[in-house]
This record gives sequence, C-alpha cells and structure tokens, in this order.
Amino acid sequence: MKAEMAENMPKLIEEYGRAPHLVVILVGDNPASVSYVTGKAKASEAVGIKNTTIRKPADITEAELLGLIEELNADDSVDGILVQLPLPKHISEAKVIATISQEKDVDGFHPLNVAALWQKQPCTVACTPLGVIKMLKEAGIEIAGKRAVVVGRSNIVGLPVSKLLLDENATVTMAHSRTANLAEITRQAEILVVAVGRPRMITADMVAPGAVVIDVGVNRDPETGKLCGDVDFANIEPIASVITPVPGGVGPMTITMLMQNTIDCFKARCK
Ligand code: NDP
Repeated sequence: MKAEMAENMPKLIEEYGRAPHLVVILVGDNPASVSYVTGKAKASEAVGIKNTTIRKPADITEAELLGLIEELNADDSVDGILVQLPLPKHISEAKVIATISQEKDVDGFHPLNVAALWQKQPCTVACTPLGVIKMLKEAGIEIAGKRAVVVGRSNIVGLPVSKLLLDENATVTMAHSRTANLAEITRQAEILVVAVGRPRMITADMVAPGAVVIDVGVNRDPETGKLCGDVDFANIEPIASVITPVPGGVGPMTITMLMQNTIDCFKARCK
C-alpha cells in the first residue's frame, strides 16, 4: 500500500501543487514515543509526504502546547497534525485532542470524528482500527455474517474496531477485564481481535481451529525483553487460519493508515 501511495504521489503533487504535509509533535523523550515518531517520519519519507517533527521538552505547559496546535491549525501549509501520546500528566490529552482541528486530525481521535464514526458519517477513522479492517479486506477475509470477538474496549482500539466490524456486518462480541469465562467466548470467534496489553494472554486453548487472529498488543516479553503481542503466536499459528505477528503486523499497518489519512485530509483540504 505504501508503494502504491509513493507511485501516486507525483500525480498528486502535479494536481495540487505540493505534497501533503504532516506535523508530528513529540513532548519529552519517552523511548517508545521517540521510536513511534521516527517510524512515522520514515514512512512519510517513503511515500513522499512532507514530515515535520516538532520536539518539545516534557515541562512544556499545557497552554504553550495548545497555542502551538492553534498555530498549526491556522497554517494553510499543514494538512495533518499528530500529537504523540501519552503526554506528561500535567497536560490534558482530551484538551489537546479536541484542540486539533477536525480536518487536520489524522489520528481520528477528535470527538467530532469519533461521533461521526458512530453515526456512520464520513470521517477520519483512527489508524489502528482502520488498519485492522483494511488488513482483513486485503487478505480477502469475508467479514459479513462472521462471529467476531474483540478483546479490549479502549477508545483508541477495542471500541472503534468493534464498531467497524459491526459496520461490515459481523456479529460482534466485546470482551474486557470483567468478562466471565473469557476462553469460552474467544473460542466462539471466527475472527478474533485482541487489544489488551498483556503478553501472550491468549493461549491456544482459547482459539477455535481455523480462526482469523489479529494481535494488536505490543508488549515487552518479561523473560526475553523482546517485543511480543497479546497472543501466544508460536502455539496458535498452527491452528489459526491466518494470524498477524508482533512485531510486523498491526504496527506497520497502523503507520500505513496514518499515511493514508494524511493524504485523505490533504485532498479534502485542497478541494
Ligand atoms: P488499554 O489499556 O486502554 O485497554 C486495554 C483493554 O484490555 C481494556 O478494555 C481492558 O478492560 C482489557 N483487559 C485488560 N485486562 C484484561 C483481561 N485480563 N481480560 C480481558 N480484557 C482485559 O489499551 P489499548 O487499547 O490502548 O492498547 C492495547 C494494546 O494494544 C497495548 O499492548 C498497546 O500497546 C497496543 N496498541 C498497539 C497499537 C499498534 O499500532 N500496534 C496501537 C495502539 C495500541 P477494561 O476496559 O475492563 O479495563
């Protein structure tokens, strides 16, 4: 998909007179955030999107950060604004997200974009949930009529993934930390999406043979210190029909969807 975007970029530049421009704001130097921001800059470069990363110290005030966002909202040469989360505790993430103008909200977190998703209106959909659905479709997996189970109900992953699966006519069950008999429920899934944040919590006995398994989790393996998902990949891969690895599955797909959202916001603004 990135190659396709790169291929189409010259045509886009010719049509609109410039490349799309994504601005990423990084507050502080949390190593995971630094690595995500670097990944976003690299992907932008690969597809031909102009990327500006603005680094601010962890002690930036909330007012200063909101002021910077307002400036970028007003800057006509900027198409997408992304503030890397999490933010230091003294800054309200909700306020920051709501300050980014809806038309430049490439993360799809703005309350108006979220509301539009739930009302089936055109909107920017959050990158990770969008990537999950895109991946299923690109892999030719039929979603309509399937029993889908989503483990995790966060605003940024579980909840929107469930809504998108519902929109694709799956029959969706949402599971969470208070779900009783989780294994019984996950075993019913023809499509199982896991977004919890607990290393390998989904074990082989929790998955039906032939299931499609999407692992959103990104964790540090407590034994090896390496990245691992929420799903016990080694033991589930032989029984699942298809399964996404960690790293290398939903993560890169999320960044690809960020590129897509940036291009879409650019086109909508330049119309
Ligand atoms: P949150 O912590 O916001 O949500 C976790 C969810 O898991 C909650 O709904 C929680 O339930 C549920 N949960 C916790 N423990 C259990 C349990 N024992 N059984 C069943 N459900 C449980 O996490 P996020 O949604 O933000 O992220 C989830 C994972 O996905 C993380 O590993 C994160 O790093 C990763 N991630 C990956 C991305 C990517 O691009 N690949 C993007 C975003 C996230 P409850 O609501 O009841 O508390």
